[in-house]
Amino acid sequence: MIQNWHREMLIVLPISVAGVLVGLWIDRLTSTLLFLLIAYLCWQLLQIHIFNAWQRAPKSARPPYSVGIWASITNLAKAQRERARKRKRKLSRMLAGFRESSNALPDATVILDEKGRIEWWNDAAKNLLGLDTKRDRNRTIAEIVPDSIFNDYLLGGDYHHPQQIPAPLDDNTSLEIRIVPYGKGKRLLQARDITRLQQLETVRRDFVANVSHEMRTPLTVIRGYLEAISESGDEAPLGEWQHVVSQMRQQTDRMQRIVADLLLLSRLESQEQTVGQEEVDVAELLESISEEAKNLSGGEHRIYLNTDAGLRLYGIENELESAFSNLAFNAVRYTPAGGSVAMHWYANGDKACFSIKDNGIGIEPEHIPRLTERFYRVDIGRSRQSGGTGLGLAIVKHVLTRHGSVLDIESEPGRGSMFTCTFPAYRVCRIEPERPRRLAVH
Ligand code: ADP
Repeated sequence: MIQNWHREMLIVLPISVAGVLVGLWIDRLTSTLLFLLIAYLCWQLLQIHIFNAWQRAPKSARPPYSVGIWASITNLAKAQRERARKRKRKLSRMLAGFRESSNALPDATVILDEKGRIEWWNDAAKNLLGLDTKRDRNRTIAEIVPDSIFNDYLLGGDYHHPQQIPAPLDDNTSLEIRIVPYGKGKRLLQARDITRLQQLETVRRDFVANVSHEMRTPLTVIRGYLEAISESGDEAPLGEWQHVVSQMRQQTDRMQRIVADLLLLSRLESQEQTVGQEEVDVAELLESISEEAKNLSGGEHRIYLNTDAGLRLYGIENELESAFSNLAFNAVRYTPAGGSVAMHWYANGDKACFSIKDNGIGIEPEHIPRLTERFYRVDIGRSRQSGGTGLGLAIVKHVLTRHGSVLDIESEPGRGSMFTCTFPAYRVCRIEPERPRRLAVH
């Protein structure tokens, strides 16, 4: 650029000097200089005009005359234009590649604008969601997928978890829908065919339920005979077999508990997700659970119960009883003799909470995220010894999920644990003003 300024000066200076000389010679210095200035200005205006026309129509118009500074300006503009062309070509190639790979995906991908209108979709979306190239561009996705669960998901704005819905074209196909927000109000919708996965899940669930069901009768018979044998001890002393029979009874009891828990879990899994509107008197329920916990403890723990008697829940009583009693019995089983267990049923804003706190053995932090998995136990030996099945917290989690509730676990090894179940406002029902009831069961 500086070099070109020099070139511009090399043109302007000689002309100015010549103008001064001519002006002096004809004794008209001012008018000669004025004439030269106007001529220079007109030249520059002409170049600007040509440059402007060339910028607007680079293919048809001609560039400015390549003189002085204009040589540099023209070259710079040409280089920039070339760079932009290359960038555009690269972006087009990338876009084509992205479209090609998106079309190769077996999952449907749809781009939605801020108003939920469809901007673009891949080939799989045509088959899974029934999108049509001509008909559906700029229509809203809610018109194409008229499913109430999907619409609640789309409008709800909470896209942390995917949703399962039947495919709009075929009720026998199940889709897992996931929405990912990006950019300014845009959303990427992905739909995956999970029919086969669901079939496998049903096969697994049915298998577990059938096996558990089939095992129930033989176990009851074995248990009955073992009971009869141990009770007939007076007539024919069992001698050294006494210990063996007692072990067999213990193990049969354990198997019966596992079978009962497995059957309960498959019932929870196979029933409708929305649970009933039965009004559950949680305070009363907890009183009977605390009595059972006292029996389990055999008087070796201090058990406290603090409830808000007017606070009730819409739900299924026997399911809630299973969940709360599992938590209460765990607290007793994992707290050494002399320890305490405190249960609390209270309102937290418009939500309701059940918390149970013990000062028992506690849980190492790395185990906490996995505790609600089936058969996950921190210490298998201890769990078996205390009569555990490894399914208690899995049942708790299922029951709570069915009631729209979440389980929060806080624990410190050696100091104790606190399990809190929080129920959403729509499950809460208050029958009278707050009336706390405190019970300490020893
Ligand atoms: P289990 O029948 O073995 O108790 P659960 O599913 O009820 O199975 O619990 C899973 C594991 O979580 C238990 O094996 C135990 O290690 C741990 N756990 C549950 N509750 C407590 C508690 N209150 N204190 C310490 N550990 C607990």
